[in-house]
Amino acid sequence: MRRVIVPAAAVLVSLAPAAPAVAAHHPPPQKVPVAEGHGGAVATVDLDASRAAVAVLRRGGNAMDAAVAAGAVLGVTEPYSAGLAGGGFMVYYDARRRQVHTIDGRETAPRAMTSTSLEGIPFEEAVTSGLSAGVPGAVAQWDLALRRFGTLSLRQALQPAIEVASKGFVVDQTFHDQTAQNAARFKDFTSTAALYLPGGAPPAVGSVFRNPDLAATYRELARRGPGWLYGGRLGSEIVETVKRPPVTPGSTRNVRPGLMELGDLRAYRALMREPTRVGYRGLTVYGMAPPSSGGSTVGEALNILDALPRVGVHEYLEASRLAFADRNAYVGDIPGVPLRELLSDGFAKERACLIGERAVKHPAPPGAPDGDYGPCAPPSDTAPATPTAAEGPETTHLVVADRWGNVVAYNLTIESTGGNGIVVPGRGFLLNNELTDFTFGPAPGDPNLPAPGKRPRSSMAPTLVFDDGRPVMALGSPGGSTIITTVLQILVNRYEFGMRLPEALAAPRATQRNTAQTQAEQAFLDAYETELEARGHDLVLNPEIGAATALEFLGRGRIQAVAEPVRRGGGSAMVAGSHR
Ligand code: GLU
Repeated sequence: MRRVIVPAAAVLVSLAPAAPAVAAHHPPPQKVPVAEGHGGAVATVDLDASRAAVAVLRRGGNAMDAAVAAGAVLGVTEPYSAGLAGGGFMVYYDARRRQVHTIDGRETAPRAMTSTSLEGIPFEEAVTSGLSAGVPGAVAQWDLALRRFGTLSLRQALQPAIEVASKGFVVDQTFHDQTAQNAARFKDFTSTAALYLPGGAPPAVGSVFRNPDLAATYRELARRGPGWLYGGRLGSEIVETVKRPPVTPGSTRNVRPGLMELGDLRAYRALMREPTRVGYRGLTVYGMAPPSSGGSTVGEALNILDALPRVGVHEYLEASRLAFADRNAYVGDIPGVPLRELLSDGFAKERACLIGERAVKHPAPPGAPDGDYGPCAPPSDTAPATPTAAEGPETTHLVVADRWGNVVAYNLTIESTGGNGIVVPGRGFLLNNELTDFTFGPAPGDPNLPAPGKRPRSSMAPTLVFDDGRPVMALGSPGGSTIITTVLQILVNRYEFGMRLPEALAAPRATQRNTAQTQAEQAFLDAYETELEARGHDLVLNPEIGAATALEFLGRGRIQAVAEPVRRGGGSAMVAGSHR
């Protein structure tokens, strides 16, 4: 056996008291939320995904190779949050060229979808339907990401996922519970019940779950390439499933068929987009531009905070409230989003001026990002005040850095936990229900109404922070529109309140998205409820907000990888270790 010399620097710090300290050269056998060392690092929600990423890094792969490999593994082990029929956004730092790129792998509406296609449909009914399935973006995104920035082929990057799908993974409490929460609808589809309710019940905690169909699907995708999905046989099967969902005989569920055609799959493209960029406390923060509202909303809120003389939790909530008012009024996958104005210092100052001793009255109207800013202007008289619709705690986020300094923040999703609930028969994966992220309407003028080929507005906010041209942090989270507030709150915790990164992630959260009530975790209520209610906030319990992953670059190649210590069962942070 090869003796492994652990460099003094490659120590592993853990917040979880039960977690053993493990030499950084061996992937830990169980999840630990914090790892520190050299040679690259990763944080995901899942041990198998983090191990896959670290294995790729150790074999000389770069951060993008590792991110795609881990993303494909999450399609196996976190199949209710992500998968090859989903979509996502990547923010990537290319260390050699010193450039930040973003890749939009968001699902699209079929060409037959119009502004009224979702009108009048009950939300819950749309969730579990063929109609809500967007044209998948994940595979095209992986392919583009690897071609532009990777060293592995898609075929190579899929190998760890093939292995995990065929050998199986150990069912944990989160997987079990998510299956149980979905059981009522999973049983209504023959394909889904056969895969996820074996013997009629969710797989037991501690049992090994294998997905040979998905292993075979990934294998064939590896062999045939993305064209197999985007116009080939797999694409035809997806279209067939969307149009004629395999409803269990005797089920009374009203399952609406979808509008997707093979031509929609053929037309799909993952897209390179300009990142959003704001200055904040001397740092530069890059994020995801439309069709995500992540970069613009986090960016605007940071600009507002930057314009204030003092920042506490009240200011954090108010900046978020105002930024969401503007997001809801102006951001979507449409031409002419006033992105530059939304992210301008002038606009931020005008918005910051509204923040006083007491909370802004609900709902906060949007501002006027028109380039003409006074010290404290009245709100827009044309755009209506729109509160943010409710969203669930789905999705996942991962971060990877490699030994060369490349960094990826990658948010991936199939929208609801369990997507649209429909497994493509014999293929081992769920379809997304991303099109429920559109505004259903009627809502004249809303930037997020459906349209042919349009991408639904997202809240995903993979984020990179730079100091003097060097990356200092990468972060992101799941959680629908709370993604934005979770990212914002971690940045506020770190850079305003001076917490270290593990504390900044673990700290109790609250989320204000231009809603009447501010949702907050119990520990946040315990600490701030009295103070905030005295200032006009109305707080309500949300037991768990977000499940973030992040990296901090500590200098000289040293990285701290951080995942959740507790939320969603805790995540998995690892460093690749140094071979110097
Ligand atoms: N569909 C959501 C979005 O793009 C992500 C899924 C979620 O976290 O709810 O914003």
